[in-house]
Amino acid sequence: MNGTAMRLPVITSCTACGACCLVVTAPPFQRVFDGEGEEAWERLRRERPDLVDAIVADARARRQAGIPSYGTPCSWFEPATRACRHYDHRPRACRDFAIGAIDCHDARRRAGIDATAFDP
Ligand code: SF4
Ligand code: SF4
Repeated sequence: MNGTAMRLPVITSCTACGACCLVVTAPPFQRVFDGEGEEAWERLRRERPDLVDAIVADARARRQAGIPSYGTPCSWFEPATRACRHYDHRPRACRDFAIGAIDCHDARRRAGIDATAFDP
């Protein structure tokens, strides 16, 4: 363990955070557009085709407008609660994102939460 790791605060809850949702622009499902997606995507297609249609339409609109598909809050992110609007349907990447791991701390630092975590 190095000195930086020793200074990182312990994080036990995502409540009112959502920092890792602020730059992905859209729910980060894998292989969304070739019709052969991850399990969470397949389930979304079965259970919430309306959400699938919205994701695909948003992506098409961004492409047509030349707007990047990264760097803005996820379309499922609810700013008022700082939570995922469709948490039960979130992609695998969101499920695998480890709370308290280095990427979590980095996302929080970029969002201005725990901003001193990496200070010398
Ligand atoms: S940045 Fe970390 S604490 Fe915040 S929502 Fe993501 S996993 Fe949870
Ligand atoms: S799908 Fe939900 S958990 Fe995943 S980035 Fe978007 S708002 Fe966050």
